[in-house]
Amino acid sequence: MKKGKIVLVGAGFVGMSMAYSMLNRGGINELVLVDIDQNKIKGEEMDLSHGLPYAPQKMIIKAGDYSECKDAQIVVITAGVAQKPGQTRLELAEVNAKIMKQITKDIMASGFNGVIIVASNPVDIMAYVVWKVSGLPKNKVIGSGTVLDTARLRYLMADYFKISSKNIHAYIMGEHGDSSFVPWKHAYIGCKKVTDVMKDNHHPMEDLQKIHQGVVNAAYEIIEKKKATYYGIGMALNRLVRAVLDDENSILTVSTYLENQYNQNDVYIGVPAVINKNGVRDLVELDLDEIEQEKLNKSCELIKKMRKDSIDKIID
Ligand code: NAD
Repeated sequence: MKKGKIVLVGAGFVGMSMAYSMLNRGGINELVLVDIDQNKIKGEEMDLSHGLPYAPQKMIIKAGDYSECKDAQIVVITAGVAQKPGQTRLELAEVNAKIMKQITKDIMASGFNGVIIVASNPVDIMAYVVWKVSGLPKNKVIGSGTVLDTARLRYLMADYFKISSKNIHAYIMGEHGDSSFVPWKHAYIGCKKVTDVMKDNHHPMEDLQKIHQGVVNAAYEIIEKKKATYYGIGMALNRLVRAVLDDENSILTVSTYLENQYNQNDVYIGVPAVINKNGVRDLVELDLDEIEQEKLNKSCELIKKMRKDSIDKIID
């Protein structure tokens, strides 16, 4: 395995935003672009490489194929069809599941044995498909889950409280989509509970729900205005890749496999987890109240129903 070698499958808006973010930040030794559109990856290879003289560090950037996965540390999958205006993430499932199945077979045929990060939507279902088809242990297949949603939450809270987003410790859990939720009693600003900050500053508690609604609406709003969202997820994916490459043991809200945690089974869903070189090291299990648990159950039910209706037959 080559240290710092990443293969990106899907050189579209999301994938290339991640690639650009990597080029700017450095810390990646080699980035291989794979896509069905051969012309596009050649063009992206050239365009991205022309930024190298101004990048903090050298990096091999090249168009390639699935054989490059053999010695890669991480494969990031952002291929697929993007969400159309008005289309829910779950409606995308069937089309993208077929794409994920083929891509995963091609990755595994190379002899790959690293960590796969999946961002294609609906991400909780796609991560499950990739895990099932790959045969990799569950810790090695990570969905980007609610990493982006959590970033949106931290951004909106930072704006509301006028505190740096770096000091906002709040997490979005559940489906990357409409049924996500925030376990507010586990949310902190610095070392103070958000609910206490609200009380002490006489802020109405309903404002917290409005902030969460802002997160849920964000993707729809951006898609309506500019057709797709990609910079935020590009940064989020780069963050996730770094946590694996640098063996960080960082807590991020990824989509991961539940096996009795949170009273749920056989489902990939967004929960806080410790991320290191092996992928998901552990889950951070929170003590959810009754309403929050119901919300998580609802998210899991939605995903499982979609899988049963249209995805399981594709995996088999
Ligand atoms: P895009 O259309 O710009 O890019 C998709 C790329 O995938 C294209 O370059 C296409 O050629 C390639 N592709 C399609 N089928 C392929 C296959 N079989 N093999 C290899 N490559 C293939 O779309 P985008 O805006 O980059 O979005 C990509 C995915 O990311 C979508 O599923 C989108 O919904 C998802 N997304 C996820 C999040 C998140 O938070 N998880 C956020 C935004 C977008």
